Amino acid sequence: MPVLTRLIPSPVVVDIRPGALDDLAGVLADERISHSGRLAVAVSGGSGSRLRERVSPTLPGATWYEVGGGTLDDAIRLAGEIKAGRYDAVVGLGGGKIIDCAKFAAARVGLPLVAVPTNLAHDGLCSPVATLDNDAGRGSYGVPNPIAVVIDLDVIREAPARFVRSGIGDAVSNISAIADWELSHRVNGEKIDGLAAAMARQAGEAVLRHPGGIGENDFLQVLAEALVLSGIAMSVSGDSRPSSGACHEINHAFDLLFPRRAASHGEQCGLGAAFAMYLRGAHEESVYMAGVLRRHGLPVLPEEIGFTVDEFVRAVEFAPETRPGRYTILEHLDLKTHQIKDIYVDYVKAIGS
Ligand SMILES: [Zn+2]
Repeated sequence: MPVLTRLIPSPVVVDIRPGALDDLAGVLADERISHSGRLAVAVSGGSGSRLRERVSPTLPGATWYEVGGGTLDDAIRLAGEIKAGRYDAVVGLGGGKIIDCAKFAAARVGLPLVAVPTNLAHDGLCSPVATLDNDAGRGSYGVPNPIAVVIDLDVIREAPARFVRSGIGDAVSNISAIADWELSHRVNGEKIDGLAAAMARQAGEAVLRHPGGIGENDFLQVLAEALVLSGIAMSVSGDSRPSSGACHEINHAFDLLFPRRAASHGEQCGLGAAFAMYLRGAHEESVYMAGVLRRHGLPVLPEEIGFTVDEFVRAVEFAPETRPGRYTILEHLDLKTHQIKDIYVDYVKAIGS
């Protein structure tokens, strides 16, 4: 009888609740991640200093490192600084750039990473990828999953609302990404990892169906859990497939075509997902998704993030080029400019402007 099951690379600790940050040292000691309390904590120079003031009394054995931006050089510098410190673990305390810097540095010196995100802007907080700016633009570097993820919902509530909104768009876009994966399976025979798909889809659905709003802890709890599960789903499948399809290609197209004007990751992915659902003929789902995004204050029309319809059409047309090899509804339909325009008119009619 086959009894071998696979092991899922996943954090030992996932602690998501109001006040979680105050117990960080205790949780890490209990779970034998850091007995001695010797931690290298990476924070940003700006907003990080306030956090540092608040958290440092609870982490007496920690050494604090200010990290500049989210560049590969910053991450390499951080790795160089912490390598002689004989730490138990590296803690990334801050937004996505800080977490990604800390992820890369921890991997480089062979230490486990504790991710303590201070906003919920996207699903990178628990993913096996560090996104860093390098000389060629931006690179994605494979790194181990964090050993622990600690999300203090009180801290999340202090972050600007647009960060939470961005996380909503990123989580909800999973539903479109999974539909793209299934399409590629039907058309090209691409293998679907059922577990990864289940985790990512349920994460997206939970956020989509939740009646609460961004000011409520029970909604933030579900959103934070969804983003963590999305990250683990990517570890399970070994790539970003469970959370990235046409929605993310459209997002990348915005970033590449209009680098100075791009909106947040989740805003663009949410809009991309609602439109991609419409493209694939899932009109009811598209309208429902757009309604939910609207309710949370997210854009569902390009002009709501400062783009004209023509610019949006250009982004949709260019999107497949941003991710060669990924088969989504965009590659499947291979639409010409006028066709995208026509469908966009129908989309606007369907969701109501
Ligand atoms: Zn994303």
